[in-house]
Formats: sequence, C-alpha cells, structure tokens
Amino acid sequence: MSATTPNSGPPGPRRWLGLLVAVALVSGGVVYTVEQREQDADARATATQTVSPAPPKATKPSRIAAAVAARRVAIDTILLRRAQAVQTGNEALFLADVDPANKKLRAAQKILFANLVEIGFTELGYSQAEERFNPSVLKAHGSTTYLVRILMRYQIPKVDFTPVTTELGYTFIARGGRWLLTADDELDDDLGPGAHREAWDLGRIEVQRGPRVLVVVEKGDTTRGRAIATEAAEGLHEVATYWPLKWTGSVFVIALDETEVRDAKFADEDIESAASTGTTFSSLPGQDTADGTVAGGYVVINPNERDRVDEILLSHEITHVATADLGGYEPLWLAEGAAEYVSWRGIEAVSGPGEVAKWEQEVVDDAVPQLTSLPSDAGFYQNSADVYGVSWLAVRFLVQRIGLGQVEELYEDMARNGTDQASRDRILLSRTGLTEATLWTSLTTYRPQR
Ligand SMILES: [Zn+2]
Repeated sequence: MSATTPNSGPPGPRRWLGLLVAVALVSGGVVYTVEQREQDADARATATQTVSPAPPKATKPSRIAAAVAARRVAIDTILLRRAQAVQTGNEALFLADVDPANKKLRAAQKILFANLVEIGFTELGYSQAEERFNPSVLKAHGSTTYLVRILMRYQIPKVDFTPVTTELGYTFIARGGRWLLTADDELDDDLGPGAHREAWDLGRIEVQRGPRVLVVVEKGDTTRGRAIATEAAEGLHEVATYWPLKWTGSVFVIALDETEVRDAKFADEDIESAASTGTTFSSLPGQDTADGTVAGGYVVINPNERDRVDEILLSHEITHVATADLGGYEPLWLAEGAAEYVSWRGIEAVSGPGEVAKWEQEVVDDAVPQLTSLPSDAGFYQNSADVYGVSWLAVRFLVQRIGLGQVEELYEDMARNGTDQASRDRILLSRTGLTEATLWTSLTTYRPQR
C-alpha cells in the first residue's frame, strides 16, 4: 500500500493563488511599449480586409479601435466555427481556419479534432480573453501576429455537473485578407498550471465508458482501458459504501503514457505517487474571484503505475473527486485522511480487520512520534514523514469520537467555510469539541481499541 501511496490531493484554490502570482511575475517580464502596440495595430489594420476604409480625417485611435474590433469579430467567428465543427463531426470545418502552411499544426489539429469528437461534449465553446504580447512570437510571425489567451468552456456529460473552463493560447496571423490559426502552444508557459495538457491535448486517445465511469487511454490501449473502468466502478462502489456523502457523478480517469497531464506532474517530486486528482473550475482562479470556483476533479494515473491501478487506489482518488465540488477549503489532513479512511475500509472488507489494526499500530508507534502537530497544508506533499498515515489516524479517531456521519458533515463545513485557520478551528471546535492542537494531543495519547 505504501508503495502506491496516492500522493496528491485536490490542489486547492490556495495553491493556485501562489502559482498565479508566479505567472503574473513572468508576464511582467514581457516588455512592450505602447508605441510598438500602436504600430502593430496599424499594421493589422492594413492587413485586414474586413476593416472599412477609414475616412481621411479619421483620428489614429479610431482606426486602431476599428481594426481591433474587426479582428475580434473575425476571431470569434473562427472560434465559433471550430466548436460547431466538433459538435457536428465536421473535420474540414475544424481545419478551415488552420494555417495551410503549417503542416505539423494541421496534423496535430486533426488528432485534437478526433479526440474532442470522441469525448462527446454536451457543451463546447471558445472565447477570447486578453491579448498577450511577446516580442519573439511577433518576430516569428510578423506584424499581423495576434497572440490571445483563449477560454475553452465545455461540459462532459455526467462527469461535469456544470460547464467548466480551461485555458489555451492561440496565435493568429492575417494572410491574404483572412485570419489563420498558426500556433497553439506559444502561450503555454504563461498560462495556469496544466493548461493545454488536458486529456485530449496529448496525442490520439480512446475512451472507455462504463456506468458512471469514463476512462481515457492511448488509442489502441483498449484492454487496459477496460480494466481501469472495471476497477473504477468498484472504487465508486467503495466510496458510496464507506463515505456518507450522496454523490451521483461519474468519474473521469486519465491513464496516458504521459508524465504531465493537467496539473499532475509525475516526472519529478511526485514520481512515487500512483495517481492524482486535479481540480476542474467553473470559473478559473483570477477570472471572477481570486480563488476561482471549483467544479469537480479528474483523476490522472502515473504512467508507470497504469498496470497496478486497483479499486483501493481509485477509491482514495474517487473520494477526492466526490468531495471536490464542496469548495476545496478543507485542510489537507482532513482531505487525505478521509480518502485514506475510505480506501482502508475497502482493504478491511477484503482482508479482515487484522491488516488495518497492524497498520494503525504502526502509525501510532512510528509516524506520530515523527511529527509535533497535525500535518499542515504547507509542505504536506513534500513531507517525508508519513503524513497520510497520521491524517488517516486523525479521521479514524474522529469517527470513533463523533461518528462517521458527523465527520462527513464536518468535512462539508470545512470544505465550504474553512478559508483560514480561525474558521477551521471554529468549525472543528463546534463540531468535535477539539481544536487542531487538542486533536493532535489526543492522537499522541491515542491507543486503538480492539
Ligand atoms: Zn489523496
């Protein structure tokens, strides 16, 4: 079990905030003068035939504004066409606005199109966010270059309860009087974590479906896809059995031969983790609010662990998925403790209470003495101590003290309202009679009852 410790919880809004600050700093490094921007806008106006001829005495700003407005309409039309192409299965329409000179992009866009059709969205739309300026991109494509952040808004039936949003960066150029998509990766480094690394962005996929399960694998990896779908269905059953929350959603599992999918990174510090559940957002952090609005979660499997995926591992991750849309403000010890609680109840059902009792004693004897408090959110996933075991013990202790139903209600309250330490302590105290400090003290003197 420890060899396949699921090592990543729902990356909460707070984690995003830090990353957004980093992104803002990076973007600030791109220097671009107002004068240059005006010159480029002039150049764009010249290149765009859809712009009405400016009257001789028109002021410069109005000509620029007209060109920008015309460009906005032209790009909106292209984006609408691409979404319609997916919904109607029309590959030619999808490729109609892709630069014919960029053969590599056209080949990649064919794969993207096939993937999007295979996912089968109930809703799909693209919109322009803000223009971004990058001198090297401008240099590469010339004066008509339009680099823009794109919001892709979609809904996968049953998986996403509401439409969710992900980011892209598209480079358009004007040639022969029309706008063409000439690159789709030149803004990737400046986007949020996991942008342009969705399940459909990384090569040809196939989708395996089961009741309440959607599994994405490499095209042709059918046997593995079906096996994972079966295990996921069993994992779902365990979550429904051992966690009182009534969750009716479907679980989306991505098992590709890729170390970076969405915000999961299995190449570096998370290399030992078998799977990770990453958040989906109905509104991205920074879009309407700093934290964004969490909509749910998708499971990503470590490529090296794809053959070892079982319902025990997946029940841990599906607990995260089932609780993801509650708000995301719960402390990590509670999130990981609850997920471990569910997966260990599954082990107990299969192998009897002996193994669980042995493990609980090991956590009491070995893991608890390595810590001086409940594991904090900061550095949780980098902590070399067995923070998962201690979190699990804390939830076991709380279940014994107030009952599983009350622990689940505590979780919901924390997820919705635990935005800072004072709120968390207030919620914990009112529902359990303990603060995090006294809960920790209780764990240090806890003797499992057999
Ligand atoms: Zn976890």
